[in-house]
Amino acid sequence: MPELDFRAPRLFVDAPLSPGETIALERNQSNYLGNVLRLSAGESILVFNGRDGEWRAEIVGRKRPDSLMITAQTRPQDRLPDIAYVFAPLKHARLDYMVQKAVEMGASKLQPVLTRFTQVSRVNSERMRANVIEAAEQCGIISLAGVAEPMRALQQGLTAPDGVDILIGPEGGFAEEERTLLLRQPQILRLSLGPRILRADTAGVAALALVQAALGDWARPDLEPG
Ligand code: SAM
Repeated sequence: MPELDFRAPRLFVDAPLSPGETIALERNQSNYLGNVLRLSAGESILVFNGRDGEWRAEIVGRKRPDSLMITAQTRPQDRLPDIAYVFAPLKHARLDYMVQKAVEMGASKLQPVLTRFTQVSRVNSERMRANVIEAAEQCGIISLAGVAEPMRALQQGLTAPDGVDILIGPEGGFAEEERTLLLRQPQILRLSLGPRILRADTAGVAALALVQAALGDWARPDLEPG
């Protein structure tokens, strides 16, 4: 397993990645590399597109970074554990937090569900996708978690999942009829997160930690960042 470079800046680029490929930078990417990270031509970063693995890329540009030249692959494309994070969405900043933490914790799918006491009636999927990319860039992930359109009710999603689904309710908890419906499902296991009531975003991180440690990829020392 190649030594993973968790220190180099990483950028998601929605373009094919192969040796010698040149990729034009979007204005915000050029600004981030040039003005925020203060990188210049000749320096290198890591790029990924969620399909072709991770590659080293050299910055090209005279006054400011305007493109990347792809040089060598640093990591083959991997797969996230088949863990879906099914959750009652919260408002704005806390939803951003929930999405970013679920990505950091290795969820491969984000599935909002509008339960009876959910605080919001609609979800900005584009904002969620932007948070998925930002979290993946920051935490060394090269596969992108999928963002599903919100389910309008719990009933929609009660099929037996291929992998593991983690369901976290809203701040107001599940309605009685939802709780009854859930507990009647043979494929559902009620998981205690201890004797205290956790806020929904805390509960999400705690539940993902338990599942990753027991069934997921936390037991893979070859992946541990240096
Ligand atoms: N008053 C609500 C209730 O009694 O369910 C509290 C909901 S809690 C703020 C939000 C969600 O986090 C819950 O629906 C549940 O999915 C999860 N959660 C919070 N604390 C938990 C715990 N100790 N064990 C299991 N799940 C918990």
